Amino acid sequence: MNKDQRHLNVTAIENGTVIDHIPANNVFKVLHILNLENNKNQVLFGDNLDSKKYGKKGIIKVSNTYFAANEINKIALVAPTATFIEIKDFEVVTKKQVQVPDHIQRIVKCFNPNCITNVECVPSKFNVVDKTEMKLLCHYCEKITSKNNIVFV
Ligand SMILES: [Zn+2]
Repeated sequence: MNKDQRHLNVTAIENGTVIDHIPANNVFKVLHILNLENNKNQVLFGDNLDSKKYGKKGIIKVSNTYFAANEINKIALVAPTATFIEIKDFEVVTKKQVQVPDHIQRIVKCFNPNCITNVECVPSKFNVVDKTEMKLLCHYCEKITSKNNIVFV
């Protein structure tokens, strides 16, 4: 990598959060889940960037915004490898790894078309029963939505 490319990949932000190591092509899902489409601060993002660790990756930089643990964990379904890097005065203060949460609400649709969450205006609610295979047990109909069936609200 030459110096110019490196500069492009890590354009510094003064204060805010860098979300690094997002799987390639999931950047837009992360922007959506974290509601960054409506963020009033500067949001920079890139997709399909070269990564030594993962081949290709996405990255998001949000100025003047920090994320609470429950927000960070919301993206576990689309970016379990992501790191949240908090920047203050151009310095890295903390790095937080995404953890798969025990419960997931609203983000995902229940797989069962007859579930109350799909028929009526009830927000979905799941217990994560398998964190590796991403098996989500619906709180209402008790059907399992798995990794391959996940549809985002
Ligand atoms: Zn359900």
